[in-house]
Amino acid sequence: MTFKIKFNVPYRDKKCDQNVIKLLNNKNNSLFGFDQFTRKNEKIISQNYKFKNILFTNSCTSALEISALLTYRKNKNVVLMPSYTFTSTASSFLRANFKLKFLDISNRSMMPDLETIKKSITKKTGVIVVVHYAGLSIEDLDKLKKICLKRQIYLVEDAAQALGSYFKNKPLGSFGDLSCFSFHETKNIHCGSGGMLVVNNKQFLNKSHYILERGTDRRLVLQNIKKKYSWVTIGSSFNSTELNSSFLTYQLLNYKKILIKRRKIYERYINLFNKNNLNEKFYFNKNFKYLFNYHCLYIILKEKNSTNFINFLGKNKIQAFIGYVPLHTSPYGKTLGKQKLINTDLLSNKIVRLPIHNYMSLRDVSYVVKIIIKFFSNKF
Ligand SMILES: *Cc1c(COP(=O)(O)O)cnc(C)c1O
Repeated sequence: MTFKIKFNVPYRDKKCDQNVIKLLNNKNNSLFGFDQFTRKNEKIISQNYKFKNILFTNSCTSALEISALLTYRKNKNVVLMPSYTFTSTASSFLRANFKLKFLDISNRSMMPDLETIKKSITKKTGVIVVVHYAGLSIEDLDKLKKICLKRQIYLVEDAAQALGSYFKNKPLGSFGDLSCFSFHETKNIHCGSGGMLVVNNKQFLNKSHYILERGTDRRLVLQNIKKKYSWVTIGSSFNSTELNSSFLTYQLLNYKKILIKRRKIYERYINLFNKNNLNEKFYFNKNFKYLFNYHCLYIILKEKNSTNFINFLGKNKIQAFIGYVPLHTSPYGKTLGKQKLINTDLLSNKIVRLPIHNYMSLRDVSYVVKIIIKFFSNKF
């Protein structure tokens, strides 16, 4: 089906392409990585968000894989995470020998709240992964961090969707021992596939680089500390190539402008929802406490499930999606043992994500809302 209004259109600008061409034209540049564009990206990010130790990866999945390898402890081998997340969050920790414990989500945030997390902590808990769903964080991120410190639990932020969002006055990504971001083309800014690991716990600094670089200490050679590199740990090929980094640079420099456009679209939706009293039909996020990156606009229907709603939008050439299929109900998730997560099961059937991207106009938003109103008025 071709849609009049697509759910997402990945960001493109001639200036992104020009940087790639600049890279290709300069034969002195490595295409592999760790060269001028990757370094430039690091500089932009560290200036904008005050992150100190940044590793550019080929995906957020890779950043999660590195995090899992770094945080595994035999006597604390249980990781807590929501079932309502992307496969990579779970798969990376499973591969690193962790045992998963899925947590239920709370009513509207679509994330486990502090009470749920606290109740699930045992002596075996080694890692807690918070997934900043839609680009938002849980209400008590600072309290959770304190609990983790006290109980010797590592905090990992799956901040795949959260670049540019804040908790209080600090950017998301500043709280975890390790924080993972995505530059996949479904995110606000992207390079096809890309990611970033922020290492806030210095204990992990050297080893994170070794894992990133195929388990070697090649970094020490690049820093002129060693002459020849050797195999020092189990790693993989996780780094961002220079080609990908070069495509991203312009977007990092102009992320503020990109966010302003997203905010306009988001706010127009909210205005029209309010004007038409659509809060009687579904829940939606408004009134943000902290800076938000407008990554995703989700609504939670009061209806039994979202199927008819999404089909109706589709018939009117609007592309909308459900959220995640909860991992504990997925074919592989079921092999890990049965779990009943009441809110997760209920809410995942009622959630709908609406189109939001940089190539939508305010008229497009009006059209989507008009169709939504039509859906509800066809009923009695
Ligand atoms: C997109 C996403 C990922 C995966 O990111 P990739 O860069 O595609 O590997 C992981 N977790 C969450 C919450 C995501 O939204």
